Amino acid sequence: MANEHQIRNLAIIAHVDHGKTTLIDGLFRQAGVFEAHEALEDRVMDSGDLEKERGITITAKNAAFNWKGIRINIVDTPGHADFGGEVERALFMVDGALLLVDAAEGPLPQTRFVLRKALERGIKIIVVINKVDRPDSRIEEVEEHVLELFYDLALDDAHVDYPVIYASAKQGWASLEKGVEKKDFSDLLDLIIKKIPPPRVTLGAPFKMLVTNRTFSPFLGLVAIGRVESGSVKEGQRVSLIQEGGKVKSFAVTSLETYSGLGTERVTELQAGDIALLSGADEIRIGDTICELECREALPRIKVDPPTVSMRVSVNTSPFAGKEGDYLTSRKLEEQLSRACTSNVALGLEATDTSEVFLLKGRGELQMVVLFEELRRKGYEFMIGRPEIIPIEKDGQLFEPLELLVADVPEEFVGTVTELLSRRGGRMESMEKLEASSRVRMEFLIPSRGLIGIRSQLLTETRGEAIFASTFKDYIPFQGKRLSRANGAIVCDRNGSTTQYALFHLQDRGKLFIRDGVSVYEGMVIGEHSRNNDLNANPTKPKKLSNMRASGKDESTKLDAFRDMSFDEVLEWIDEDEWIEITPKSIRIRKAALSAQNRSVIRSL
Ligand code: GDP
Repeated sequence: MANEHQIRNLAIIAHVDHGKTTLIDGLFRQAGVFEAHEALEDRVMDSGDLEKERGITITAKNAAFNWKGIRINIVDTPGHADFGGEVERALFMVDGALLLVDAAEGPLPQTRFVLRKALERGIKIIVVINKVDRPDSRIEEVEEHVLELFYDLALDDAHVDYPVIYASAKQGWASLEKGVEKKDFSDLLDLIIKKIPPPRVTLGAPFKMLVTNRTFSPFLGLVAIGRVESGSVKEGQRVSLIQEGGKVKSFAVTSLETYSGLGTERVTELQAGDIALLSGADEIRIGDTICELECREALPRIKVDPPTVSMRVSVNTSPFAGKEGDYLTSRKLEEQLSRACTSNVALGLEATDTSEVFLLKGRGELQMVVLFEELRRKGYEFMIGRPEIIPIEKDGQLFEPLELLVADVPEEFVGTVTELLSRRGGRMESMEKLEASSRVRMEFLIPSRGLIGIRSQLLTETRGEAIFASTFKDYIPFQGKRLSRANGAIVCDRNGSTTQYALFHLQDRGKLFIRDGVSVYEGMVIGEHSRNNDLNANPTKPKKLSNMRASGKDESTKLDAFRDMSFDEVLEWIDEDEWIEITPKSIRIRKAALSAQNRSVIRSL
């Protein structure tokens, strides 16, 4: 069992693609975690395809290895600021962090927030300039940018005094001297041990641990994850769980594990400083304290922001159900959704009065969207409703969530961002110019409802330069239900296949979402009407023979470009009486009531 001087807990802060996976792979190999013949590919910390596409990391994966008798625990942090709460909890467990920066690309905005949080927590940073072997590397310039970044974020002088190391994760080496190639990662590993302090914990005191995360294992049940803050804990020991509000329950530790390589390893005892995976309790929440049986004093509770957005998820009930996907049943869907919720604490699942519909709750819609994309790729068909903010009731009155949004943008986008946020109900609270980098940091108070779908818009309008994160602030009086958009929908009034002729005659009525030759059904939305009511229309009308002037292509009915909306755009567009039908192959918008007879064209809530 390692004592606290033999442990280092660190995080890796890196933008996607800057080489985190390659570095960890290399460190593991050199620290003897993998056997020479083992296939590395499947075992290293890797982000899913989706995460890469969206430039974000969502799920944190932890790992550990030994170097010169010291145990190094690597606590992964989600790379993107949208997962603010997750990042803070990961940082709770570490005393140091590697800031990994690509030697050609330099520091990218998305890592700013995590770095800032790390500095706020007093975490020691080591800068790793990676990919120095790249022919297009520009190490000096990148170092300048890193320095600017630290000047912008530093809270005291000590923060600007960070060690820098140069690495080629791909070639398997790191060097303290710029321009000098080394044979292995010893320089980096030695630097970690020298510069990152051992965990600050109390050994002699009674056992205490703060639950900073939790997971679910089919064999062990609910597993609490956290750093042991004081004392030690043994397998089989009876301990207390102090819940929110001070309620105490006791349970026996049925299993005790710690990280080892990329997996976990069963141990009989763990001491302060180490990271524990502890099971035995049937109910555990983040922020709870697990401690000696007699202990009644909880550790300061970490706050988990309440869910602010919910979305209905339903089995696919459209006429095309089953045509494009492999999994359709509500049982399968529920299984997948609840699995996602146990491994991602930011998500929650509830039943509704209809057995085919579930309510998924979370902080913002992004994590849910990523989950939907994953389901889709696994072959699922389902439908999702409009994202709704979650109001609460207090003393007979309704309240809705308000958030504090911090945005860091290059100076030239201040106007654009301010306008975009105020259109969505945001109010600027402060603005500060970051001297070193000519960026500006602004803080806004904005109702959570104004944040739905904001991510892609902010990124588009600032050419990908804006970085932002929001945290729950307070509840404000409910501002009432609203329609998502001013305009109505163009709704298909029958089943069939779209024709160029019909679409040509419809395109003056609004903006079409589909092209010709597409299968459609009654109740499917095919465009946005130019007026505020819905329009039932026939997009399948064939050209009458009498109209035929000449054979061949008819240039007079050439279609304008149709509006191809992204998933994020569709989410913002749909209203309460509409569903998004998602299959592995298509995303369609439809009315909840398919038959034209059963719905009004006048839109109201
Ligand atoms: P992650 O997204 O941060 O985990 O990044 P990966 O480790 O998957 O690396 C992204 C890409 O950069 C891969 O194609 C790697 O082969 C490449 N890469 C990683 N480290 C280096 C390096 O030191 N030098 C060069 N030239 N390429 C690297």
